Formats: sequence, C-alpha cells, structure tokens
Amino acid sequence: MIKSKLKKGLEHSSKYPEDVFRGNHASVWGSWWNEELGWGYKCCHIVDRQNHYCLGDRGKKIALLKEVIYFITV
Ligand SMILES: [Zn+2]
Repeated sequence: MIKSKLKKGLEHSSKYPEDVFRGNHASVWGSWWNEELGWGYKCCHIVDRQNHYCLGDRGKKIALLKEVIYFITV
C-alpha cells in the first residue's frame, strides 16, 4: 500500500520541474504552515526543506508528535 502510494508520488512529481517538486513530494515546500514547526510540505508536513523523501501520512503523524513535544518542552 505504501509502495503504491510512493509510486504514485513519483509519477506525480515527474510531471513537474525538479526545482518545483523536490524528491517525491506531492506538494512544494512552503505549502504548509505550522505555528510551532514553521514552513513545510503540505503532503507530509515535513518541515526540513532538504528532506526529499515524502512520508505522507506517516510524516503528518511525526509532525504532530513534534508539535506535542514542542508544546510540553517550551
Ligand atoms: Zn511530502
């Protein structure tokens, strides 16, 4: 299931210039904003611009955890 998602992401990204869609992300960096984490990818909520590996929903869960960690440590 993850593999098919990944394949879909790659196919999607190949339709666009590499400088716009980096790696296998389905959206551009800066398409998602979080008050605690800052700018990120809308497709996976990864805030590291240099991270070209899209995690999809798993990334969103990680972002949520990061937000919780930020919330309890600040
Ligand atoms: Zn992504």
